[in-house]
Amino acid sequence: MWILTPSGLQPPAAQALPGECPHCHRQAALTPVSTPGFEVLRQHAPRRVGIVFRCEACGAPRFFRYTVRRITDTRIELATRGQELERAPERYPYSHLPAAVARLFREALACHASDCFNAFASMCRRTAEAAFAELGESGRLRMFDGLEDIIALCELDAATAQRLHAVIFGGGDPRPDPLPELDADTAAVLLEAMKDLLYQIFVRREKLLRTLRMRRFFVAQGSDGPRTDRDGAGAPQGHAGLPAPPPEADSA
Ligand SMILES: [Zn+2]
Repeated sequence: MWILTPSGLQPPAAQALPGECPHCHRQAALTPVSTPGFEVLRQHAPRRVGIVFRCEACGAPRFFRYTVRRITDTRIELATRGQELERAPERYPYSHLPAAVARLFREALACHASDCFNAFASMCRRTAEAAFAELGESGRLRMFDGLEDIIALCELDAATAQRLHAVIFGGGDPRPDPLPELDADTAAVLLEAMKDLLYQIFVRREKLLRTLRMRRFFVAQGSDGPRTDRDGAGAPQGHAGLPAPPPEADSA
């Protein structure tokens, strides 16, 4: 347990791993930078307290809430494990999505990381609507087939499947279907379904195209021999009508 005394905060003897930092996505040591005052806690005896740590990898603040176990005149004992108030959102290769889809899906994942499951469902529907606007009717049908595949592969029950359909395909004019209430379990299924659908529709294609551009670029270089600035080919040129290979830029 954590022990707070008038002289400061003592960590547990064998401190549990703090978990992935939501800012730098690394497992790093935490240093307490803001702890509640001993006398104030002893006087008010709250059931829970907050402590701010600094991530030693990136320097960002991390906020934890701890249950107070026992208060005496000389020490205050806190639970060993605290609840982190800012959870790490899922990582996703947003750079492979169209900008409008990426922006909405990033917000959807932030809602999920905050346990706001109905807000998450709303943002998933908006993400799907943005994808349909990008893809047209044929893309919508491909996503529909993709969801059917997921439902069959994962043997999802009828009620869950119906909720996924309602969230993803229930939007649109003039009268969108009401959004179903989502619990943590259904939200988890929706999360994986959306990640997979967007991957199949956008990310896979974009990754293949980038790899293909790279391959063609190197093949062209190999056949023409190494280029130098004197050849007037300092900047990489595209091949077969394709633009020059872009730098890989997956982002979290
Ligand atoms: Zn960090």
